[in-house]
Amino acid sequence: MDERAQREAPETSLDRAVRAAAAAGLVGPEHPVAGFLDADAVLEAVGDLHEAFDGVATLHTFAVKAAPLVPVLRLLGSAGMGWEAASPGELALALAAGAAADRVVLDSPAKTRAELAYALKLGAGVNADNLDELERIKELLADHETSSALGIRLNPQVGTGVIEAMSTAGASSKFGTPIGDPGDRERAVDAVLDFPQLSRVHVHVGSQGCSLELMATGVRAAYEFAEEVNNRAGHQQVRAIDIGGGLPVNFQDDQRRPAFREYADLLRTRVPGLFSGRYELVTEFGRSLVAKAGFIAAQVEYTKEAGGRRIALTHAGAQVATRTVLMPQAWPLRVSAYDAAGAPHQGEPVVQDVAGPCCFAGDLVARERVLPRLSAGDLVVLHDTGGYYYSSHWAYNSLARPAIYAFTTRTDANGAQDRHHGPGTQGGGGQVRFAVVRAEQSIQEILAESGACQRDALTGLLDGDRVKDQGTHNVL
Ligand SMILES: *Cc1c(COP(=O)(O)O)cnc(C)c1O
Repeated sequence: MDERAQREAPETSLDRAVRAAAAAGLVGPEHPVAGFLDADAVLEAVGDLHEAFDGVATLHTFAVKAAPLVPVLRLLGSAGMGWEAASPGELALALAAGAAADRVVLDSPAKTRAELAYALKLGAGVNADNLDELERIKELLADHETSSALGIRLNPQVGTGVIEAMSTAGASSKFGTPIGDPGDRERAVDAVLDFPQLSRVHVHVGSQGCSLELMATGVRAAYEFAEEVNNRAGHQQVRAIDIGGGLPVNFQDDQRRPAFREYADLLRTRVPGLFSGRYELVTEFGRSLVAKAGFIAAQVEYTKEAGGRRIALTHAGAQVATRTVLMPQAWPLRVSAYDAAGAPHQGEPVVQDVAGPCCFAGDLVARERVLPRLSAGDLVVLHDTGGYYYSSHWAYNSLARPAIYAFTTRTDANGAQDRHHGPGTQGGGGQVRFAVVRAEQSIQEILAESGACQRDALTGLLDGDRVKDQGTHNVL
């Protein structure tokens, strides 16, 4: 962004949040890094999603892995969302947030028997990843009933997006039941026909980096599969199509695009039968609901010049922005500069690196970026971190998970908003109010998670006498 434009721009709601957070000490000398989430912006995205699919019965679930924070999951539930979980932990988080089981979809690719039995007992939706898992579910239901909506995840093998690691529908993807190779489709159709309780077909083509066309092609394949099953069954066995998530997010500027509406409209033209009313829909969006609502703020601790390069040493590095640091081409983030009071930085723009606190040379969240000349005590803001950044903390260097705060700029309790756009757009004059969503990890917690309670386990193991003395509590 042009620095002068930045300086002359009117104060945004993000600017106000940074200023209020600095004034309250949420980020600064005592707490050198913290994450933030604009609750109003999250709700706005949820509203857009519901509007985009207006007119067709849809269970919109939120992919828990994008923001595994119970208060956020609860807020989303209060706004009419269900939950997509992909592990026992994520399922527990959804339930802790107050999830009704029938509004949960369990999708993990490697569910154990115990996990499946638990989900079926709860009545949570379950999408089998493959035909072996379908067999397992059948076995479990031989002597138990369930109210779970059961589905099967297909791999339509439509191809990959620009980030290989984020694409789930390539020819050799590990996800789902392939239906593109010879014989596979017939086998899958037969297996579904052989399991009359199976009523959902699921597809999730991939996350960031997949085009809307590619996603729509995958959804079309799932729809056609459902139609084939229903034609062969002679009645409508498959009643719901779960189109997954994966709407990409724009990390370049403040616009929320593509819009949910754009994708839904594309689906209306590419797969009109989806909107015929014969099928219920399930969606599983994650990143697109929360990414642009989040930012990470961190203090600059020192600055230096090395080899002609100016470097700001901050507290935001690979521990909080793991993908950005390790895969900078795939996950670049915008960085903005603020002064210690949280006001937009007025310094002269210079080329500099923004480095993190981790002990490896590549720990840079931005390289050779033109930013106002940073100095110790200033703040840097990493934009668009509301999706996955708070779930991908890296425990490297035993750096603490930072606190996450949600905020609102709503002025009245009835929810009237004094701002109508994304987190970076111009705000009105209301107060910023914060709530702790996750507390900062304490040194005590780091110790406990690092085996401090097992302190003597190894010395004891290698010293037979001590093991006898201490009993067996240190060995398994
Ligand atoms: C990760 C995931 C999602 C959410 O993807 P986003 O790109 O965050 O929208 C949805 N469904 C499944 C099965 C997933 O694995």
